[in-house]
Amino acid sequence: MNPLEILHRTPKTNCGECGHLTCLAFAAAVARAGADINVCPYINLQGLEATVLSSKKDMEDLAGQVAEEHDWALVKYLREKVSKVDFGSIAGSLGAGWNEHNPDVLSLRYLGQEVMLGKAEIFLSNDAVVDPRDQILLYNYVHSCGGKKPDGTWIGMESLPNSISKIRTLATYCEKKIAKFLSGKPAHVLTDLRGQLDGYDGPPDLGSTATSSLVVPVLPMVPQYLLFWEEDTEVGIEAKAKVLFDHSVLDFLDLESLVFSAERFAERLVQLEKNNERQ
Ligand code: SF4
Repeated sequence: MNPLEILHRTPKTNCGECGHLTCLAFAAAVARAGADINVCPYINLQGLEATVLSSKKDMEDLAGQVAEEHDWALVKYLREKVSKVDFGSIAGSLGAGWNEHNPDVLSLRYLGQEVMLGKAEIFLSNDAVVDPRDQILLYNYVHSCGGKKPDGTWIGMESLPNSISKIRTLATYCEKKIAKFLSGKPAHVLTDLRGQLDGYDGPPDLGSTATSSLVVPVLPMVPQYLLFWEEDTEVGIEAKAKVLFDHSVLDFLDLESLVFSAERFAERLVQLEKNNERQ
């Protein structure tokens, strides 16, 4: 199907619920990048189900390939940019360590782990970082060269400029995942992880209604304040998690990398807790 065929099946109201600004953008994402057509709750699929389902796997494979090629191209581009940066002059504003005897390496903390970032390679806890998305995140952070330090002014993703299409992604890959994982567990589970995540308490006024909360410096200047509310079955309220960011966070990461960093935050939290449960 081409984008116009898909567009004609949407109500063309541009409501944004699919995470795209317009129905046309959604139609293009389905036709060209294999996005899930069912994400639009209003789309008319009558007579299309068989075609869509049979081509879905091919489209997903193609989209995966395109995304990976795009990621590696971006790694290459960022690595070249970063290779021209004087690490000594930016280490302080990134909260990173720097040593004049090894001037082309920065050391920094990433979700409670030690990163050694060189101009050609990145090591995380002594292992080379192989996932291009982690490399993009870390190179983007360094390429920002820093900005206004976090000052404790917390905001939600929805308050960041041009973030409408990212709110749903953040909810799906971070907040809902964390809420589902923490629900039913004792409240101390989150705070017990603070040592492994370099975490600390957030402002009590913001977290006063939450069941548990924790600030985690995903990167030294990119703290994220996680608030979790347990479900209340009596009044039918589901478990919920919300991640807040410092209002200057875009000085250090673009929106894409920011959402990815929150996704990694959720994955690491879940992984650490599972490891702890096994011990
Ligand atoms: S959810 Fe459907 S109707 Fe709303 S913008 Fe997306 S495609 Fe259009």
